[in-house]
Amino acid sequence: MFVHALEIEESSCIGCSRCMKICPTEAIRIRHGVASIQEHRCIDCGKCHEACPVNAIYVKEDDFHDIHAYPHSVALIPAVFLGQFPDEISVTRIYSALKDLGFRHVFEVETTAGIFADAKNQYAREHPDIRPLISSFCPAIVRLIQIRYPSLVENIIPVKTPLDLSAMYIIEEMKNRGVPREEIGVFYVTPCAAKIAAVKAPVGEKRSIIDGVINMDSLYNRVYKKIKEQGKNYVLKQGQTIRLSSDAILSTLTNGERRLCLAKRSYAIDGIQNVMDFLDKLENDEVEGVEFLELRACDQGCAGALLSYDNRFLCGERMYGRARKAAERERNGEVPRDREVDRYRDYLLDNAFVDAVQPRSMLVLDKDRTKAFQKMERINKLKNFLPQIDCGLCGAPTCESFAGDVVINRVGLSGCIFYQRWLERKNDITRQECLAAMNAVWGSDRMGVPPDKE
Ligand code: SF4
Ligand code: SF4
Repeated sequence: MFVHALEIEESSCIGCSRCMKICPTEAIRIRHGVASIQEHRCIDCGKCHEACPVNAIYVKEDDFHDIHAYPHSVALIPAVFLGQFPDEISVTRIYSALKDLGFRHVFEVETTAGIFADAKNQYAREHPDIRPLISSFCPAIVRLIQIRYPSLVENIIPVKTPLDLSAMYIIEEMKNRGVPREEIGVFYVTPCAAKIAAVKAPVGEKRSIIDGVINMDSLYNRVYKKIKEQGKNYVLKQGQTIRLSSDAILSTLTNGERRLCLAKRSYAIDGIQNVMDFLDKLENDEVEGVEFLELRACDQGCAGALLSYDNRFLCGERMYGRARKAAERERNGEVPRDREVDRYRDYLLDNAFVDAVQPRSMLVLDKDRTKAFQKMERINKLKNFLPQIDCGLCGAPTCESFAGDVVINRVGLSGCIFYQRWLERKNDITRQECLAAMNAVWGSDRMGVPPDKE
């Protein structure tokens, strides 16, 4: 099942094709002057959303008011959420504002970062024959490998991420305190679109135990407004903040996982293009001796995620500041609250693993294998016939993706203007037919009157 978090508002789209050019999986096409996303190819990385000049691409989210349907609503926030706020707003104050907004409990996702690291290290010990192992942390990367690097899916460690482990911990802890499951609503505050898709359609599991997803940028606005309303008269409520260890706080930034892994040689790579460049080399056997890979679709890890409100470098610096204070407290003998999770360590590790990740096809050519093979051959022939300049005028990002669209009858070959010229020379196409083919991609009112004809 494909579930995606991004949608294009057709009435706002101006057909500029920026999204089509930037999409790393060639998932976007332009038809009739409007962009659309091919669901088999999309990995919810959000690059198209960042590139759109008119905000025509939006990220879906659940209704915030759903939190009031549960007597024990839980805000499960990522540490980068706290990194969005200016230094003068304390973590305690943010926790308190979240409770004033209606959440009964607040936990940080990174509460189980240590358990996540232990599970990955355990898997590495039990599977010495699979190297390099690839972290399952970033769902956009997991989907990218599923569709573009199917030979590498077995390298992905099939373990639940801190998001699910923390939700399991919270639910178990509350049930042990006598709260029935139906009264507990766990709402994940997401920094990116890929994690929404991962909650709605998890890889390796039937369904997620998360009850709802709230986008980080919209919650930031609510919390910030609440803090401003409270003003200077606000009374800080002590004992609300869960003080994490410095390792946990930093675990979602680039290098955060690598610091906790036991592999002798490991790399942390961020940014989707950097990751793809590296995976190309890995797939071609040009990389040797690496044991573990932390791969993140966003620059600076989750600090650079799509739904961040603030600059990723500022967010990262605030998180390092918070981690330094946490390390200081640890040196002074304070035990971080995330160590309390150790009481559930066996339960979490016993339930941490999911089914092996499977490849996913980007292009469904045919259910019949022989016919699919014939179609693949046709794509290769067409690709060699086309000019190979990836001009995008056909409404597809590359000549290869256009050839695929032609073979599965999504578009006609005459959508390529080079082919049109070829047909014109043979008198096999009229000007009107050329114009109709161009209009089918870019719409009929694309150009105004030339300046010298006004
Ligand atoms: S979210 Fe990423 S993969 Fe999906 S259409 Fe946008 S750029 Fe392409
Ligand atoms: S970036 Fe894509 S969605 Fe946004 S206006 Fe351009 S074509 Fe439309």
